[in-house]
Amino acid sequence: MLAQKIQLIKNGKLKAEENIKNFIHKIRNENKKYNIVLHLNEQAVDEAKIIDKKIKQGKAGKLAGLGFLVKSNINVKGMICNCASKTLENYKSGFNATVIKKLKNEDAIVLGMVNMDEFACGSSGETSAFGVTKNPRAPSRIPGGSSSGSAAAIAAEFCDFSLGSDTGGSIRNPASHCGVVGMKPSYGAVSRYGLIDLSMSLDQIGPLAKSSKDASLIFSVIKGKDEYDAMSQEVKDNKELKNLKIGLLSLEADKEITKLVENKVKAVCQKNKWTYKSFSLPYTDIGIQTYYPIAYTEFYSGTRKFDGRKYGFAIEETCGKEVLRRIIGGEEISKAEFTGRYYQKALQAKKLLQQEFAESFEKFDLIITPTIPRLPHKFGEKISIEDMYNYDVLTVLANIAEFPAISIPCNEIIEKNDSIPIGMQLMAAYGHDNFLLNCAQEFE
Ligand code: GLN
Repeated sequence: MLAQKIQLIKNGKLKAEENIKNFIHKIRNENKKYNIVLHLNEQAVDEAKIIDKKIKQGKAGKLAGLGFLVKSNINVKGMICNCASKTLENYKSGFNATVIKKLKNEDAIVLGMVNMDEFACGSSGETSAFGVTKNPRAPSRIPGGSSSGSAAAIAAEFCDFSLGSDTGGSIRNPASHCGVVGMKPSYGAVSRYGLIDLSMSLDQIGPLAKSSKDASLIFSVIKGKDEYDAMSQEVKDNKELKNLKIGLLSLEADKEITKLVENKVKAVCQKNKWTYKSFSLPYTDIGIQTYYPIAYTEFYSGTRKFDGRKYGFAIEETCGKEVLRRIIGGEEISKAEFTGRYYQKALQAKKLLQQEFAESFEKFDLIITPTIPRLPHKFGEKISIEDMYNYDVLTVLANIAEFPAISIPCNEIIEKNDSIPIGMQLMAAYGHDNFLLNCAQEFE
């Protein structure tokens, strides 16, 4: 638990320097095995020494001495922020994203930048230009994506916590496959300033950690209105955990995984005297068809700045297959003759899903599904583009309808030599981020 570690550091029983040295040592020794860290902060130990002095003077912030890793699409001054792409291979960031500024203000220390799917496009970690990340919990399987390094880093104990970004599931998906906690906040709850985004109307930065309590602590620091992000806002909720009504949303997913999630819900409801009920919604099956036209169009538009003049190289000449597919697809569907056919239609469908969920959250305090509908595939196993996109059927809903969602470990499925982590997804109404994090602690 981070709260205990913070106390140890504060009381001088564990030096910040020692905490950071331990992580750097572990990363140096074990990173070859997992390919999690792309760029190490060589100054981290020196920074920790300064924090130790601040602690002695009683001037340290509330995360003093903790070490964290950052997805390579979030700007950290002086670090290589390459989005795991050849396009930005040597791009050194000149400024701190708002989330980084906030964490540094509380004296947390950046350990380095981690691997991901190229420009956050992917669900498996396999599209990185710098090689795939290994899943520390199930080494023959993909770690999930696109925040693959951020989730694997928690599982490998390379840091106290990490940051990821989530457009359609990229925090929750790898959290589920690596057996850790990952939260996507309400849209706008956390500033996106300094994030090299995939899709501006869907993206959120969020924390990954070992427990929901830890994630909650990090969320409390990074959230809030930011003058640099016009869409950001303060979410303040104080809904209590009393007489909860839980909805189990029925969607297509592996039977064994669904059963494990249901059993967990049953047990927690019995213990707390909460009620639960299965239900279905008419439009949830259009999630993927709604998500991709929005993601493609906004990604195409966002990548126009990578023409090789200001930053890095021309994206079309240097990127991988999946990124190119989205650029070509995004260009095509945003042509004038298609106005109204794809992007506008998808925005209409988004409204529909938003309404549907707003009504559901009047009936239920919490909606639960598995995080991912299937087991992660093995390295080298060929899967179709449709199957790859379908990893996200259960996670895209929260991005489309803008409410907060979290993936927490639920159970494991043993297959041959692997014990594969299974995550469950908890979702709450827009703005109820703290309530969601409190519920998650109860489920853990
Ligand atoms: N897997 C989804 C995609 O490829 C989601 C990615 C993300 O959340 N960044 O677009």
